[in-house]
Amino acid sequence: MRIDIITLFPEAVRGYLDASIVGRARRRGLLEAAPVDPRQWAGGRHRVVDDRPYGGGPGMVLAAPPIASCIEALQSRSSRMRLLMTSPQGRPLDQAWASELAQEQHLAVICGHYEGVDERINEIYRPEEFSIGDFVLSGGELAALVLTDAVTRLLPGALGHDESAVSDSFSGDEAQLDHPCYTRPVEFNGMRVPDVLLSGDHAKIEAWRREQRELRTAARRPDLKG
Ligand code: SAH
Repeated sequence: MRIDIITLFPEAVRGYLDASIVGRARRRGLLEAAPVDPRQWAGGRHRVVDDRPYGGGPGMVLAAPPIASCIEALQSRSSRMRLLMTSPQGRPLDQAWASELAQEQHLAVICGHYEGVDERINEIYRPEEFSIGDFVLSGGELAALVLTDAVTRLLPGALGHDESAVSDSFSGDEAQLDHPCYTRPVEFNGMRVPDVLLSGDHAKIEAWRREQRELRTAARRPDLKG
């Protein structure tokens, strides 16, 4: 799987791509992910990548030409690229969509900044716009990293145990919230780990966990099916 993150702020994404599960997946060769800076394709002496909005108003808009050249350069190197764009106006990213994207060979994610991206990029390349929630960020870098992380942990071999991705919240057939978990010490602040988890009885443990998933989902997210 390859993920290109098209961003004016490559330094904002590099650290995350090096760390933890995403970094390990890259080192294991499961994931190739890197920032791509559209400035490389910006023409003129000043390499302009953004400009004031036509019609007036505050802020800056990412200009179409360098983004278009960048998309085309990436497409020319790969026939199977699926193009996405970060946007608070996009389709909400969820676990089902992340699983679908994890089947792809190559994703490219455009990060907007400031006011957004010249609308003609949408009209020409029809990127799939995704949102990570009903709030506004200054730029798409965090959203692109959210997508990268959610997709990477679904790649076979990226987690220590592949089954842990199946019982995670929103995953598997039931798409419920996950059960609570405990580790040592067995007693903390006068509170003991539930006895069933210490029983060694795997059928009982699984039944307890299933019940906990149902209770939590009903209490916290009754909108989820389950
Ligand atoms: N004026 C735009 C917001 C621009 S925010 C509007 O109101 O719709 C600047 C950039 O940050 C966006 O282009 C997008 O790339 C990113 N961004 C902001 N909020 C986001 C969100 N909730 N999900 C995904 N990307 C977001």
